[in-house]
Amino acid sequence: MSHLPIISQQELDRQSEIMSRVAALNEHKHPLAFVDTYGCQQNEADSEKLRGMLSRMGYRFTDDEHSADIIVINTCAVREHAEHRILGNVGALTHTKRAKPGQKIVLCGCMVQQKHMAERIKRSFPIVDLVFGPHEMYRFPELIEQMIQPHKGRIFAVRDTQGEYVEGLPSLRQGRVKAWLTVMYGCNNFCSYCVVPLVRGRERSRTPDKVLEEARRLVDEGYKDITLLGQNVNSYGRDLDSDWDFSRLIESINSIPGDFVIRFMTSHPKDASERLFKTIADCEKAAKHIHLPFQSGSSRVLSAMNRHYTRESYLALVELAREIMPQISLTSDVIVGFPSETEEDFEETLSLVERVRFDMLFTFIYSPRAGTPAEKMPDPVSREEKQLRFDRLLEIHNAISAENQASHIGKTERVLIDGVSSAAAGNLTGRTSENRLVYLSGPRELVGSFKNVKITDSNTWSLTGSII
Ligand code: SAH
Ligand code: SF4
Repeated sequence: MSHLPIISQQELDRQSEIMSRVAALNEHKHPLAFVDTYGCQQNEADSEKLRGMLSRMGYRFTDDEHSADIIVINTCAVREHAEHRILGNVGALTHTKRAKPGQKIVLCGCMVQQKHMAERIKRSFPIVDLVFGPHEMYRFPELIEQMIQPHKGRIFAVRDTQGEYVEGLPSLRQGRVKAWLTVMYGCNNFCSYCVVPLVRGRERSRTPDKVLEEARRLVDEGYKDITLLGQNVNSYGRDLDSDWDFSRLIESINSIPGDFVIRFMTSHPKDASERLFKTIADCEKAAKHIHLPFQSGSSRVLSAMNRHYTRESYLALVELAREIMPQISLTSDVIVGFPSETEEDFEETLSLVERVRFDMLFTFIYSPRAGTPAEKMPDPVSREEKQLRFDRLLEIHNAISAENQASHIGKTERVLIDGVSSAAAGNLTGRTSENRLVYLSGPRELVGSFKNVKITDSNTWSLTGSII
């Protein structure tokens, strides 16, 4: 398969010149930008690029939307709930903007890539000055330059495309310990409920040399926790005319000298393989953790979801992963109330959760998404019934999670101290190799270092420990 079009160096140079021009305009003004991000880690990574470009254009950053000269909201479309929150928050900005004339409001990301949403913003949210979809991100400087011109009307830049391939955008990372590293964009899977392939375009893998170059730079800069991002990392490389796959990529990053952890998400069960599990087992820097969304425990529902695996094959995969790495931590996503999910189907989801005993489960109630096949499927089950199922699932999973966590009390774990907290359980936070959250106490200077920690207590979601 050949690559989707690459954005030319010439075009990137043009955007770079625009950044310098805007920076010259902003000199002495020191305008403030507020960047708000919804949704997944890919959006977090995209926002770091938006910040990188804003910084090159002379903006400084604030956490207070009232004082911001420009507000950028990077939106999510995966569920209706996120969209409602975003629209509610945009509505509330009417007052903020009134109090600060000249303030500019920008909406970007997946939600506005949907035509009906872009139309709705145009119609009902006149305070929004600029709207652009994920495919226009590399043109952010040009769009900003247009927006800040006096008397310029509102700008809507949403283009129907399969997506291009962009390298070389500056990035201003949020943390000093953990970093996102995108290895591929888009998704080809078309799960019947999911809007991601509609808004993010087709799979585009970054070339291994670019990924490795960025990984080396991150290690040089002192990052200790690198998460490789893609909607389905297991299909990394399939669109490149080479023999690179995701396992080879992990092995290559693992061989970069330095003390750091490699994490990744997300693995689609249809493509997770023995080779991947063996690679994680063999690579000392790879976290012994897999996020393997199962979505439903019923093969009938999985087929309607277009997931390309069955309950049995999922369970066999989990067994294989645990055979290869008995200590592996497994986390997952599940959707409750997919159209036509029966009580029996749901009970299969419960029994799968009881069988696998996930360390962490992200639970969602099905949300119909415009333009997806599932949106047109008959859905006789009431919202109340779905909520009841959701509550039953949580109750079962929470009990399992608390038991899993408690089983670590008394053990010694190697923990990467990754941040400070105000929790009663400790002023520092850390993560075990299996990605378990640990609260501990110690000087702030320890952030960014690995320590052996004795686990002393636990609750449903976290562990408490002391450095030994
Ligand atoms: N690419 C990843 C997940 C992307 S979306 C994967 O395939 O695993 C993150 C999670 O949101 C999904 O795993 C799914 O559980 C949930 N999700 C996606 N679309 C949804 C919808 N329409 N309603 C409810 N949950 C949804
Ligand atoms: Fe959505 Fe499925 Fe792609 Fe994940 S694999 S982003 S759930 S279509």
